[in-house]
Amino acid sequence: MCNAKKAIDQGKKLPNDACNGSVTPCPASKLKKCKGSGKGGSTNISINDADKTIHINTKMEFSGPDASEEYAKAAKKQIEEAWSGKMTRNGEEYKVIVTIDAKSNKTGKPTSGYDQIIVDKKNNRMSQTLFGGGPGYQTPEAANDKTRPRRIAHEYGHTLGLKDGYTDVKGKGSTPVDPTKKNDIMSETWPDKNGILPHPHQDHYEKVLSNQNCDDNI
Ligand SMILES: [Zn+2]
Repeated sequence: MCNAKKAIDQGKKLPNDACNGSVTPCPASKLKKCKGSGKGGSTNISINDADKTIHINTKMEFSGPDASEEYAKAAKKQIEEAWSGKMTRNGEEYKVIVTIDAKSNKTGKPTSGYDQIIVDKKNNRMSQTLFGGGPGYQTPEAANDKTRPRRIAHEYGHTLGLKDGYTDVKGKGSTPVDPTKKNDIMSETWPDKNGILPHPHQDHYEKVLSNQNCDDNI
């Protein structure tokens, strides 16, 4: 164990040069970047095996007739709250930290390097191109939807390359593919009867890391 890591484990405050010592290179400062999905979109994932954190970042630009700074802010908040959490990796608990660089752009010219989301009240049914490599379509109501508070967060699951966890069954509406999987963000966007909001599960995070080839070339 490197000295800095040892000090962190013992709860000590480190001097700024703690990682520059010549004894052991300090892995705490090393973020390993995932290779990427190769399927477009701006999402970047880095893993720090020293402090057990996984950092997911996506750049998203909201445009279209109903885009606004407020919508961009609400989308950022909803996604970060829903997708930041915990997962198990190689038998150990990792903290997942999701950050969204969100901006509103009314110029009609997309900013390079940003996933594009068109906000238009005509978009009743929201959708998202897998991996964010193509446009997403959202409605301004999703920013503050009391009955379905995680609609934007669900779409972000597609940005991470995840597929829907539900199918539309005639006469029954939206039906989960796996009914034993509770509060699944990829199959529902509303809270259950106890008020628990849908959220990502271990298998979602595993799929996201595998989609981004996190264990190749690192
Ligand atoms: Zn979906």
